[in-house]
Amino acid sequence: MAYVPSFSTRLLVLLLTLLPGLLRAQALIETVETVPAVNQWLQPGDRLQVRLKGRPGQRVTFLKGLPMTELAPTLTKGQRGIYQGTYVVQPSDTLNNRPILFQVLRNDTVALASAFSRSRVRFLSPNTPQLALTKGQLAYLNYGLGEDRLGGAKLGYLDSAVVLHLTGMVGNQYRVRLAENQQAWVPQEVVRLLPPGGFVPTSLTGSWSVSGDSLYDYVQVPLDARLPYRSQLLTNPTRLVVDVFGATSNTNWITQRTGIRELGDVHYEQVQPDVFRLVLPLRHAQAWGYSIGYRGNNLVIRVKRPPARLRLQSLTIGLDAGHGGTNVGATSASGSQEKVLTLAIAQKLRQVLEKEGARVLMTRETDLSVENGSRVLLMRQLNPDLLLSIHVNSSGSAAVQGTSTYYRYVAYRPLALAIYNELLKTGLKGFGNVGSFNFNLSGPTEYPNALIETAFVSNPEDEKRLNDPAFQQQLAERIKDGVEEFLKANRAKGLRGWLQQEPAPN
Ligand SMILES: [Zn+2]
Repeated sequence: MAYVPSFSTRLLVLLLTLLPGLLRAQALIETVETVPAVNQWLQPGDRLQVRLKGRPGQRVTFLKGLPMTELAPTLTKGQRGIYQGTYVVQPSDTLNNRPILFQVLRNDTVALASAFSRSRVRFLSPNTPQLALTKGQLAYLNYGLGEDRLGGAKLGYLDSAVVLHLTGMVGNQYRVRLAENQQAWVPQEVVRLLPPGGFVPTSLTGSWSVSGDSLYDYVQVPLDARLPYRSQLLTNPTRLVVDVFGATSNTNWITQRTGIRELGDVHYEQVQPDVFRLVLPLRHAQAWGYSIGYRGNNLVIRVKRPPARLRLQSLTIGLDAGHGGTNVGATSASGSQEKVLTLAIAQKLRQVLEKEGARVLMTRETDLSVENGSRVLLMRQLNPDLLLSIHVNSSGSAAVQGTSTYYRYVAYRPLALAIYNELLKTGLKGFGNVGSFNFNLSGPTEYPNALIETAFVSNPEDEKRLNDPAFQQQLAERIKDGVEEFLKANRAKGLRGWLQQEPAPN
């Protein structure tokens, strides 16, 4: 006799068949997340933003029963069951690196479902400032949270053991309060958190000492703590402007000792109650570099003078062949590798420069992997008069071609521009002279520098020329000519940048 399933058995089978689908349809909570979906530290006044995807028409809450709003389908491309919530953190709130609780409620009390965010959130108490110290030789601040292949736009490097007041965190960057209405971001890996209980760093500025030794001019400003700072090297007239955050003037005199050769009429402004600005005019139109750091708690700004003789035979030139080793760089469709081309061109450039009597210091001389950070540190140590970084460009479009040069700081634009103008003489198309370029080796302020993207390896015509040793030689000659033009222009300009600031004689 055939087995005839009873009605109840058939119902059970039907239920089991449909169950996965029913469960899916019935999921009260599908996903929950903070927006952005990364760990965060928030301070009073900041917004905690959250999102939940679930079943439409529910009463949904987050944190401590705060209601979330189901978005109208017009805001979600027709998708239903998307809930969002915003909470402005209040001074009395506490939350210590916890995931955020989400609940679907019935009758406002019974939780039908709950879930936690994957990311964790901390509410900072303004009564217990979170401080940190910069660490390492390459600590830096970013303007914002942007990220691309060049990293976030950098505000500048900081010395080690600089005290930072952290007011937030998003993902792997801390927000730094610099001054009233001024903030920056710092990557987690370049700071060490301090235990709670410290005071927000501030300082009165002491009286300055301005001096010069056989190599450099110096400005020293005594402070009570290693405060963060930012600097800008400006042109027309040439001057270095340094803002010290958290500092208020008690500078009652500026002693100018003997030996000063590059610094002009140094002075300061209190641009806002907690921002102390040093204004350091330079005597020459072309700035040759500077560095900022601390000796104890004294801020020390070291300004380089122009080379004694503006001739290649008196110069030390840093030369950087981009990429190398496991870092191949751009590769063309036919297999040309950037690291091979940059080394070949750099080696030819080295010979050309040395023939003119220049001293050349390379970041790599073989097919070696060298981190860009190590290259920056090496050059900081070797202290060249100029740095040239050689690269090969690449584009997703094979039609894009041409030569280009890059600089970060306007004061170093003349070097990049002089080289660009010479490179155009090779017959390569012009791709441009590009400023504010956020490349590691364009970041140092210690010497004028230029990044040279010789030509596009992704363009067949450029690629053919890049691989031709005779053309590589031509590139090297033109780059050398560019440096010579830069020096020639400097010989002609001389002290003009300084004289422009002097009152016109009657
Ligand atoms: Zn490159």
